[in-house]
Amino acid sequence: MSVAELTALSAAQAIEAIERGDTDATELFEAYRGAAAADELNAYLWVPDAAPEQAPPVGAPLRGVPLAVKDLFCTQGVPSQAGSKILEGYRPPYTATVVSKLAQAGAPLLGKTNQDEFAMGSSNENSAYGPVLNPWDRARVPGGSSGGSAAAVAAGSAPWAIGTDTGGSIRQPAALCGIVGLKPTYGAVSRYGMIAFASSLDQAGPLTRDVTDAALLLGHMVGHDARDSTSVGFPGEIARPTARALAGIRLGVPEELSGEGIEPGVLGAFNATLRLAEQLGATIETCHLPHAPHALSAYYVLAPAEASSNLARYDGVRYGRRAHNGGGLLELYTRSRSEGFGAEVKRRVMLGTYSLSSGYYEAYYGRAQRVRTKIAEDFRAAFDRFDFVVTPTAPSVAFELGSKVDDPLAMYLNDYCTVPMSLAGIPAISIPNGLSDGLPTGFQLAGPAFSENAILDAAYALEQALGFDGSAGRAA
Ligand code: GLN
Repeated sequence: MSVAELTALSAAQAIEAIERGDTDATELFEAYRGAAAADELNAYLWVPDAAPEQAPPVGAPLRGVPLAVKDLFCTQGVPSQAGSKILEGYRPPYTATVVSKLAQAGAPLLGKTNQDEFAMGSSNENSAYGPVLNPWDRARVPGGSSGGSAAAVAAGSAPWAIGTDTGGSIRQPAALCGIVGLKPTYGAVSRYGMIAFASSLDQAGPLTRDVTDAALLLGHMVGHDARDSTSVGFPGEIARPTARALAGIRLGVPEELSGEGIEPGVLGAFNATLRLAEQLGATIETCHLPHAPHALSAYYVLAPAEASSNLARYDGVRYGRRAHNGGGLLELYTRSRSEGFGAEVKRRVMLGTYSLSSGYYEAYYGRAQRVRTKIAEDFRAAFDRFDFVVTPTAPSVAFELGSKVDDPLAMYLNDYCTVPMSLAGIPAISIPNGLSDGLPTGFQLAGPAFSENAILDAAYALEQALGFDGSAGRAA
C-alpha cells in the first residue's frame, strides 16, 4: 500500500489491513516514521531513526500500529523532558507502565510529542521547545497541554497517541484539533512513570481519530499496577462500541457549563448535537452543578499546590540540567531552577508554596479541598437522574498563537468545562462536533466513575450520526 493509503487508515483499519496481509507492521511503521519526521507543526520532540528491530510480540492485538507518546511519559533511553528545559537531555532508566503495556499489546513508540511544560497550559505555548501549530490553521494553537499528541493525530502523522489530562489536557486539545480524546476515571490507568504535575488529578488517556480507536487503545491502558498506589484498575473489559441509538439515555445539560462564556458558534454546534441526540432517542433536560462555577478557582489552588511539591525534586542535582555553579549548594538549586523552569511553572510553584504555607493552608488549600468534595457531590446527585452530563468541551474554537499568552486568567478559562470532571475523578470524552467558522468544536460526555464503556457507546452512536470528516485537518 502507498504511504498515503496507509496513513489514511484509522488504527482499527490498519490492524485489519495487517491481519488481511495488505501491509505489515514494518511498512506501516516506516510510513508513519516518515510522516512524523517530516512534521512541520513542531508536534514531535523526538522521532526514532529506524523501525523497531523487534517485531511486535506474536499475537499482539494491536499488530504493530505505532503510537505517539506525550513527552512526559518516561521512555527508557529516550528523551523524556516534559516540555521543560530543566529536564533537557534526561533519558530515564525505565519506561512508564502504560507505555510498556501498549508496547506489549503491539503499539511500539513512534515518537515523543511536544507539550506545555510539565503539562501546565492550554495552548502548548508554554513548551520550552516552541509552540505546536494547529493543522486546521497554522496561525492557531492546537490546545494543550497534550497539544503535540492532538496535532499529530489530527494531521495524520500518527495513527493514535496518548496524553495526560489534569484539568482538560486531553479533551481540550482533542476538541481544538477535531479528534477524540478521553480522560479515564482517576485510578483506572497507572501513573507510574508519568512525570507528575498534580498527582491527585493526572490521568493518562487516548487521543484518536475516532471513538472505536479510543476504545481499542484504552482497553490496553487500564489495569491495576502495584507500582502506583492510587491505581485501582478497571472492573471488566473495555468493549468495542457498537451502539447506533441512544434509546432511553438521559442526558443532563448543566446550566452552569452551557451558557455564559461559551462562544456562540460553539454553543450553536452543541445545541444542534443535542437535537440530534434527541432524534437518536435520548431525553435531554437541564440540570445543575451548583458548585461547578467554583471549579477553576479550586483547581488553581489545588493543582499548583501539588505541583509545587512534585517539582521540588528538580534541584539540578538528580535529574536533567544543572546550572554552572560558582557558589554553594543553595545557589546551585536557585540557579538551576531559575534557568530551568519557564514563567508559568514558576508562577505555579509560587502560588502552590504560598497556599500550602502555615497560616494560609486552611484559608486556601483546605477550602479548595472542600469545594472539590462539593463538586463531586454535585455530579453524584446529577447521576441519580441522568446517565451522562454533556457540555461543550472548550468555550471557544482554536485561538490565534500569542493571543492569550499575556493573560493567564483568560488562558485558564479554556478549562472551564473540563476541570469539574477532573476534580470529581470521573471519566469524560470529547468527540468532534462539527465546525464553527471552519474550525473544530468538541462535544463532551461525562459519566459516573468506571462508566467508560457506556460513555464510549453513547459517543459512538453520536459520532456515527454526526459523520464528522476530519480529513481537512490531515490534508493540511
Ligand atoms: N490547562 C490546565 C492547566 O494549565 C490543565 C492542564 C492539564 O490538564 N494538564 O493546568
